[in-house]
Amino acid sequence: MQRTLSIVKPDGVKKNVIGNVIGRFESEGLRVVALKMMHLTQKGAEGFYAVHSERPFFASLTEFMTGGPVVVMVLEGDNAIKRVRGLMGATNPAEADEGTIRKDLADSIEANIVHGSDAPETAEFEIGYYFNAMELHG
Ligand code: GDP
Repeated sequence: MQRTLSIVKPDGVKKNVIGNVIGRFESEGLRVVALKMMHLTQKGAEGFYAVHSERPFFASLTEFMTGGPVVVMVLEGDNAIKRVRGLMGATNPAEADEGTIRKDLADSIEANIVHGSDAPETAEFEIGYYFNAMELHG
């Protein structure tokens, strides 16, 4: 069993596809073990994406992520990190495989609907960033 953090980003909430995204995870056998809707602060977004702080798109990314509410969740299942990444598709929706969330729903490399942790260490940091032990229902 593995856990991963996923976010329906502000563009996904605005497009009314929260259920669509979560449904794809559930259909593949991943379980939601924690879930909340929140509006990220600038500091909160900058801390979450700290690994990208030197990238040219950092300011734009944090502005986008604070532009509206998001839905943050923890998913559990065998090989959850890789499976969620597979369902998401490539960062740039133009390069994402058919049938992935980003190919089907996303507009741009930045407004790409969904986040998913990319490695076990990242997942641990990201889950702890948004949830405490009592909020995890595995
Ligand atoms: P991910 O793991 O597929 O989400 O991609 P990354 O970790 O590389 O980037 C984090 C997020 O930053 C992406 O999901 C996008 O929202 C955004 N992003 C990535 N690359 C770019 C870029 O070249 N330009 C802009 N504006 N945003 C980007």
